[in-house]
Amino acid sequence: MKVLVAVKRVVDYNVKIRVKADKTGVETANVKMSMNPFDEIAVEEAVRLKEAGTATEVIAVSMGPQQCQETIRTALAMGADRGILVKSDDELQPLAVAKLFKALVEKETPDLVLLGKQAIDDDSNQTGQMLAGLLGWPQATFLSKVAIGDGVATMTREIDGGLETIEVKMPCVGTVDLRLNTPRYASLPNIMKAKKKPIETIEVGSLGVDVAPRLKTLKVEEPPERQAGVMVPDVPTLVDKLRNEAKVI
Ligand code: AMP
Repeated sequence: MKVLVAVKRVVDYNVKIRVKADKTGVETANVKMSMNPFDEIAVEEAVRLKEAGTATEVIAVSMGPQQCQETIRTALAMGADRGILVKSDDELQPLAVAKLFKALVEKETPDLVLLGKQAIDDDSNQTGQMLAGLLGWPQATFLSKVAIGDGVATMTREIDGGLETIEVKMPCVGTVDLRLNTPRYASLPNIMKAKKKPIETIEVGSLGVDVAPRLKTLKVEEPPERQAGVMVPDVPTLVDKLRNEAKVI
Protein backbone atom coordinates (compact mmCIF):
# COMPACT_ATOMS: atom_id res chain seq x y z
CA MET A 1 0.00 0.00 0.00
CA LYS A 2 1.36 3.35 -1.09
CA VAL A 3 0.62 6.45 0.99
CA LEU A 4 0.92 10.01 -0.29
CA VAL A 5 1.20 12.60 2.49
CA ALA A 6 0.76 16.35 2.07
CA VAL A 7 3.20 18.56 3.96
CA LYS A 8 2.70 22.31 3.79
CA ARG A 9 5.32 24.85 4.80
CA VAL A 10 3.69 27.45 7.04
CA VAL A 11 4.69 30.10 9.58
CA ASP A 12 5.70 28.21 12.73
CA TYR A 13 2.85 27.95 15.23
CA ASN A 14 4.97 29.59 17.97
CA VAL A 15 5.57 32.75 15.95
CA LYS A 16 3.55 35.83 16.82
CA ILE A 17 1.94 36.71 13.51
CA ARG A 18 2.48 40.25 12.20
CA VAL A 19 0.32 41.81 9.52
CA LYS A 20 2.22 43.56 6.71
CA ALA A 21 2.17 47.35 6.86
CA ASP A 22 0.21 47.56 3.58
CA LYS A 23 -2.40 45.05 4.94
CA THR A 24 -2.00 42.74 1.94
CA GLY A 25 -1.12 39.71 4.05
CA VAL A 26 0.98 38.32 6.87
CA GLU A 27 4.70 39.02 7.23
CA THR A 28 6.72 35.96 6.18
CA ALA A 29 10.15 37.55 5.58
CA ASN A 30 12.68 36.46 8.26
CA VAL A 31 9.99 34.43 10.03
CA LYS A 32 10.52 30.85 11.21
CA MET A 33 8.68 28.42 8.93
CA SER A 34 7.80 24.81 9.81
CA MET A 35 5.67 21.91 8.72
CA ASN A 36 1.95 22.53 9.27
CA PRO A 37 1.25 20.80 12.65
CA PHE A 38 -1.64 18.71 11.25
CA ASP A 39 0.66 17.49 8.47
CA GLU A 40 3.15 16.27 11.08
CA ILE A 41 0.32 14.11 12.41
CA ALA A 42 -0.41 12.86 8.87
CA VAL A 43 3.27 11.94 8.35
CA GLU A 44 3.39 10.20 11.73
CA GLU A 45 0.32 8.12 10.84
CA ALA A 46 1.73 7.16 7.45
CA VAL A 47 5.08 6.18 9.01
CA ARG A 48 3.29 4.11 11.67
CA LEU A 49 1.39 2.31 8.88
CA LYS A 50 4.72 1.53 7.27
CA GLU A 51 6.28 0.35 10.54
CA ALA A 52 3.25 -1.91 11.09
CA GLY A 53 3.86 -3.48 7.67
CA THR A 54 0.58 -2.10 6.29
CA ALA A 55 2.14 0.53 4.03
CA THR A 56 5.00 -0.22 1.67
CA GLU A 57 5.96 3.33 0.71
CA VAL A 58 5.36 6.79 2.14
CA ILE A 59 5.79 9.77 -0.20
CA ALA A 60 5.81 13.30 1.23
CA VAL A 61 4.60 16.05 -1.10
CA SER A 62 4.94 19.78 -0.66
CA MET A 63 3.86 22.51 -3.06
CA GLY A 64 5.35 25.98 -3.06
CA PRO A 65 8.77 27.65 -3.27
CA GLN A 66 12.13 25.85 -3.24
CA GLN A 67 12.33 26.17 0.58
CA CYS A 68 9.50 23.59 0.85
CA GLN A 69 12.34 21.08 0.40
CA GLU A 70 13.15 21.67 4.08
CA THR A 71 9.62 20.64 5.02
CA ILE A 72 9.95 17.51 2.89
CA ARG A 73 13.31 16.75 4.56
CA THR A 74 11.59 16.90 7.95
CA ALA A 75 9.05 14.34 6.72
CA LEU A 76 11.88 12.16 5.39
CA ALA A 77 13.64 12.41 8.78
CA MET A 78 10.41 11.27 10.45
CA GLY A 79 10.42 8.17 8.24
CA ALA A 80 8.91 8.97 4.82
CA ASP A 81 10.72 7.20 1.97
CA ARG A 82 10.90 9.90 -0.68
CA GLY A 83 9.64 13.35 -1.45
CA ILE A 84 8.09 15.34 -4.28
CA LEU A 85 8.33 19.12 -4.46
CA VAL A 86 5.88 20.79 -6.82
CA LYS A 87 7.71 24.05 -7.28
CA SER A 88 5.83 27.30 -7.60
CA ASP A 89 6.81 30.82 -6.61
CA ASP A 90 3.25 32.01 -7.02
CA GLU A 91 0.52 31.68 -4.42
CA LEU A 92 -1.25 28.30 -4.56
CA GLN A 93 -4.80 28.36 -3.24
CA PRO A 94 -6.54 25.17 -1.98
CA LEU A 95 -8.28 24.45 -5.31
CA ALA A 96 -4.98 24.70 -7.18
CA VAL A 97 -3.25 22.46 -4.61
CA ALA A 98 -6.09 19.92 -4.89
CA LYS A 99 -5.82 19.89 -8.70
CA LEU A 100 -2.03 19.47 -8.52
CA PHE A 101 -2.46 16.60 -6.02
CA LYS A 102 -4.93 14.98 -8.41
CA ALA A 103 -2.27 15.10 -11.15
CA LEU A 104 0.27 13.50 -8.77
CA VAL A 105 -2.23 10.84 -7.67
CA GLU A 106 -2.74 9.87 -11.30
CA LYS A 107 1.05 9.55 -11.67
CA GLU A 108 1.80 7.77 -8.38
CA THR A 109 -1.44 5.76 -7.91
CA PRO A 110 -1.43 5.70 -4.08
CA ASP A 111 -4.01 3.76 -2.09
CA LEU A 112 -4.31 6.44 0.56
CA VAL A 113 -3.73 10.19 0.50
CA LEU A 114 -3.35 11.79 3.93
CA LEU A 115 -3.58 15.54 4.46
CA GLY A 116 -3.96 17.80 7.46
CA LYS A 117 -7.50 18.85 8.28
CA GLN A 118 -6.40 22.45 7.77
CA ALA A 119 -3.34 24.56 7.20
CA ILE A 120 -2.75 26.97 10.08
CA ASP A 121 -1.91 29.84 7.72
CA ASP A 122 -5.08 30.02 5.63
CA ASP A 123 -7.33 27.90 7.93
CA SER A 124 -9.20 26.88 4.78
CA ASN A 125 -10.00 23.25 5.59
CA GLN A 126 -10.71 22.65 1.89
CA THR A 127 -7.86 20.89 0.13
CA GLY A 128 -8.57 17.28 1.14
CA GLN A 129 -12.27 17.59 0.45
CA MET A 130 -11.66 19.18 -2.95
CA LEU A 131 -9.11 16.50 -3.84
CA ALA A 132 -11.56 13.70 -3.00
CA GLY A 133 -14.24 15.48 -5.05
CA LEU A 134 -11.94 15.92 -8.06
CA LEU A 135 -10.79 12.28 -7.91
CA GLY A 136 -14.27 10.91 -7.22
CA TRP A 137 -12.75 9.04 -4.24
CA PRO A 138 -14.30 8.38 -0.83
CA GLN A 139 -13.07 10.70 1.90
CA ALA A 140 -12.87 10.62 5.69
CA THR A 141 -12.19 13.98 7.32
CA PHE A 142 -11.09 14.97 10.88
CA LEU A 143 -9.58 11.54 11.57
CA SER A 144 -8.83 10.43 15.11
CA LYS A 145 -8.26 6.75 14.25
CA VAL A 146 -7.26 4.89 11.09
CA ALA A 147 -7.50 1.12 10.62
CA ILE A 148 -6.64 -0.34 7.24
CA GLY A 149 -8.39 -3.56 6.18
CA ASP A 150 -8.62 -5.48 2.94
CA GLY A 151 -9.51 -2.80 0.37
CA VAL A 152 -11.37 -0.80 3.01
CA ALA A 153 -10.38 1.60 5.75
CA THR A 154 -12.25 1.96 9.02
CA MET A 155 -11.94 5.59 9.96
CA THR A 156 -13.00 7.30 13.18
CA ARG A 157 -13.87 10.98 12.78
CA GLU A 158 -14.09 13.79 15.29
CA ILE A 159 -17.53 15.32 14.93
CA ASP A 160 -19.51 17.78 17.04
CA GLY A 161 -20.40 16.00 20.24
CA GLY A 162 -18.43 12.79 19.74
CA LEU A 163 -16.80 10.33 17.40
CA GLU A 164 -18.17 8.77 14.24
CA THR A 165 -16.75 5.58 12.74
CA ILE A 166 -17.18 4.99 9.02
CA GLU A 167 -15.91 2.47 6.53
CA VAL A 168 -14.55 3.79 3.23
CA LYS A 169 -13.43 1.90 0.15
CA MET A 170 -9.82 2.40 -0.85
CA PRO A 171 -8.26 4.24 -2.56
CA CYS A 172 -9.42 7.13 -0.42
CA VAL A 173 -8.51 10.53 0.96
CA GLY A 174 -8.15 11.19 4.69
CA THR A 175 -7.65 14.46 6.56
CA VAL A 176 -6.22 14.15 10.05
CA ASP A 177 -7.22 15.83 13.31
CA LEU A 178 -5.25 16.63 16.44
CA ARG A 179 -5.93 13.51 18.51
CA LEU A 180 -4.92 10.92 15.88
CA ASN A 181 -1.40 10.58 17.30
CA THR A 182 1.55 12.46 18.78
CA PRO A 183 4.16 13.03 16.07
CA ARG A 184 7.70 11.92 16.84
CA TYR A 185 10.76 14.16 16.88
CA ALA A 186 13.22 13.18 14.21
CA SER A 187 16.39 11.76 15.77
CA LEU A 188 19.80 13.05 14.69
CA PRO A 189 20.74 9.80 12.87
CA ASN A 190 17.42 9.92 11.02
CA ILE A 191 17.98 13.58 10.08
CA MET A 192 21.34 12.53 8.62
CA LYS A 193 19.79 9.56 6.79
CA ALA A 194 17.08 11.82 5.37
CA LYS A 195 19.71 13.85 3.54
CA LYS A 196 20.29 10.86 1.27
CA LYS A 197 16.61 10.17 0.53
CA PRO A 198 15.45 11.31 -2.93
CA ILE A 199 13.35 14.41 -3.56
CA GLU A 200 11.94 14.88 -7.05
CA THR A 201 11.26 18.45 -8.13
CA ILE A 202 8.40 19.03 -10.56
CA GLU A 203 7.84 22.49 -12.04
CA VAL A 204 4.23 23.47 -11.47
CA GLY A 205 3.78 24.38 -15.16
CA SER A 206 4.65 20.84 -16.30
CA LEU A 207 1.56 19.28 -14.70
CA GLY A 208 -0.88 20.99 -17.09
CA VAL A 209 -3.06 22.33 -14.27
CA ASP A 210 -4.80 25.72 -14.14
CA VAL A 211 -3.49 27.12 -10.86
CA ALA A 212 -4.78 30.67 -11.30
CA PRO A 213 -6.08 32.07 -7.97
CA ARG A 214 -9.87 32.14 -7.67
CA LEU A 215 -9.92 34.22 -4.48
CA LYS A 216 -8.61 37.75 -4.01
CA THR A 217 -7.50 38.95 -0.58
CA LEU A 218 -8.96 42.41 -0.09
CA LYS A 219 -7.46 43.23 3.29
CA VAL A 220 -5.77 41.56 6.26
CA GLU A 221 -6.11 43.20 9.66
CA GLU A 222 -4.96 42.54 13.23
CA PRO A 223 -7.78 41.51 15.57
CA PRO A 224 -8.88 44.34 17.90
CA GLU A 225 -6.73 44.63 21.05
CA ARG A 226 -8.31 43.03 24.10
CA GLN A 227 -9.35 45.47 26.80
CA ALA A 228 -7.89 45.02 30.28
CA GLY A 229 -10.20 43.27 32.76
CA VAL A 230 -11.70 45.00 35.82
CA MET A 231 -12.52 43.63 39.29
CA VAL A 232 -16.09 44.27 40.41
CA PRO A 233 -16.88 44.54 44.13
CA ASP A 234 -20.17 42.60 44.08
CA VAL A 235 -22.76 40.82 41.96
CA PRO A 236 -25.14 43.81 41.55
CA THR A 237 -22.26 45.84 40.04
CA LEU A 238 -21.43 42.94 37.71
CA VAL A 239 -25.04 42.70 36.56
CA ASP A 240 -25.20 46.47 36.10
CA LYS A 241 -22.02 46.44 33.96
CA LEU A 242 -23.22 43.51 31.87
CA ARG A 243 -26.58 45.23 31.30
CA ASN A 244 -25.55 48.85 30.83
CA GLU A 245 -21.91 48.80 29.63
CA ALA A 246 -21.44 45.52 27.77
CA LYS A 247 -25.16 45.40 26.90
CA VAL A 248 -25.09 41.57 26.77
CA ILE A 249 -28.02 40.87 29.10
P1 AMP B 1 -6.17 23.93 3.72
O1 AMP B 1 -7.29 23.40 2.90
O2 AMP B 1 -5.41 25.05 3.04
O3 AMP B 1 -6.59 24.30 5.13
O4 AMP B 1 -5.08 22.76 3.86
C1 AMP B 1 -5.42 21.45 4.29
C2 AMP B 1 -4.26 20.51 4.07
O5 AMP B 1 -3.95 20.42 2.69
C3 AMP B 1 -2.95 20.91 4.75
O6 AMP B 1 -2.92 20.51 6.11
C4 AMP B 1 -1.96 20.11 3.89
O7 AMP B 1 -1.94 18.75 4.30
C5 AMP B 1 -2.57 20.19 2.49
N1 AMP B 1 -1.98 21.32 1.73
C6 AMP B 1 -2.53 22.54 1.51
N2 AMP B 1 -1.69 23.32 0.81
C7 AMP B 1 -0.57 22.58 0.59
C8 AMP B 1 0.69 22.82 -0.06
N3 AMP B 1 0.97 23.99 -0.64
N4 AMP B 1 1.60 21.81 -0.08
C9 AMP B 1 1.33 20.62 0.51
N5 AMP B 1 0.18 20.34 1.14
C10 AMP B 1 -0.76 21.30 1.19
